[in-house]
Amino acid sequence: MTRTDPDSCPGVLRLHQAADGPLARVRVPGGRLSPEQLHALAAAAVDLGDGNIELTSRGNVQFRQVRDAATLTDRLTEAGLLPSATHERVRNVVASPLSGRLGGWTDVHPLVPALDEGLRAHPRLAELPGRVLFTLDDGRGDVSGLGGDFGVHALDENTYALLLAGKDSGVRVPAAEAVDLMLAAAHGFLELRDGQWRLHEIPDGGARLTDHLLATRSGLDASAQPLELAVHEDIPIGWLNQDDERVALGAGVRLGSLPARTAEFIAAVERPVFVTPWRSLVITDLDEWAAEQVVRVLAPMGLIFDANSSWLLVSACAGMPGCAKSLTDVRADATEAVDSGRVVPTGAPQFARERLDAEDVVAVGRQHWSGCGRRCGRPKGSVTDVVAGVDGYRIVPAE
Ligand code: SF4
Repeated sequence: MTRTDPDSCPGVLRLHQAADGPLARVRVPGGRLSPEQLHALAAAAVDLGDGNIELTSRGNVQFRQVRDAATLTDRLTEAGLLPSATHERVRNVVASPLSGRLGGWTDVHPLVPALDEGLRAHPRLAELPGRVLFTLDDGRGDVSGLGGDFGVHALDENTYALLLAGKDSGVRVPAAEAVDLMLAAAHGFLELRDGQWRLHEIPDGGARLTDHLLATRSGLDASAQPLELAVHEDIPIGWLNQDDERVALGAGVRLGSLPARTAEFIAAVERPVFVTPWRSLVITDLDEWAAEQVVRVLAPMGLIFDANSSWLLVSACAGMPGCAKSLTDVRADATEAVDSGRVVPTGAPQFARERLDAEDVVAVGRQHWSGCGRRCGRPKGSVTDVVAGVDGYRIVPAE
C-alpha cells in the first residue's frame, strides 16, 4: 500500500477539527502520569475542553472541544507533557502497565524515557508518521499483541525479542541495547517507506526491515524461533497485589471517557497512574488502607473495579456529535445497552442481525459500537461489531 497523503493524526500543536470542535491528543509515553500531570490534565479539561479526558487505545489522552490551543500548549508544556514541538506526534509508546510491580520478567518502564529521549534526539525521526507505535512488553504478553511497528518482548531478565510490524523478527537483543535497536528500526522504516504510515503497510515490511538491520548493524542475527504473539484480553481490573506488598488498582473507565472531577480525585491520591491501551487506568503503589479508600470513593463516581462489569465489554467510536460521518449517537446507545442489561456476558452464542433499532440491539461479549462502517477505535482481538447504518444497526459477530 502506497499512500500519497500525510497522516492526519492530531496532536496538541496540530488539532483535529472534529464535528464537535477542535480535538487535541496528548502523547503519554508508557502511559505514565504523575499526580501533578493528572491534575494539570483535569484542570485543562475543565478550563479548555469539554470537561472530560478521553483515553485512547495507545495509552494517550485527548481533549474535545478545545477552546484555547495556545493556553493548552503552555499548560501541557509546563506539566512536562509536551517536551518537543517537533516530535510530539511520534511519541506513541505503550509498555506493560504493571511492569516492575507484579508479574513479568523485568521492569520495562525504565526503557520508556530512554526511548522517548532517543526519539526526540534524532531530528529525522520527527518524520515518522503519527501512527507508528512502539511496544515494550515485559514478557507477560499484554502489549506485544497490539500490533506495534517496533517493539521488544522480554524473554528473560536480560533478553528481548525484537518485534517488527507486530511479529517476532527472530532477532534477540540484550536489554542494554533494546532502545538503540528500536531506534535503528525506526530509522530503517524511514529508509524503506514510500508514503506508508505503518510498517505492516510495506509489502514484507517486517522481513525487509529485519534484513536492513542485519545489513547495517554488526552482531545481529535473526535465527531464533519466532514467538507466537496473541492479543491479550484480560485487562488489569480491581485489586492487584504488588510484589512489594503495596497495592495497584486497575480501574475501568466507561467508554474511555474520564470526567475531570474523577481525575482530580485520582490525582489527589498522589500516586503514579498509568493510562493503559485498553482505555483504563492503573493506580499504583497504594497501601491497603489507601486502596480501600480509593475504591470506596471512586467506584460510586463511575470507575470500574469489578472485573465482571459489562462496561468492560463495551467500546465505542466518537459517534455523533463528535464525528460528522456518524449516523447516530453510538455512545448514548451503547450506554443505554449497558444500563438496560442488553450487553450479555460471554457464553451465549452471537448471531448476525441487521436493521435493528438501538433499543433492540442485544450483543454478546466484547463488542465495539460504531457510528459508520469505518469502525474507528475497534479493539484488536475477538470483538463483535455493532455498526450503525442508514437502516439501523447491524450486528457482526466476532470471528
Ligand atoms: S467509525 Fe465512523 S462515525 Fe465512528 S468515529 Fe469513525 S468515521 Fe466517525
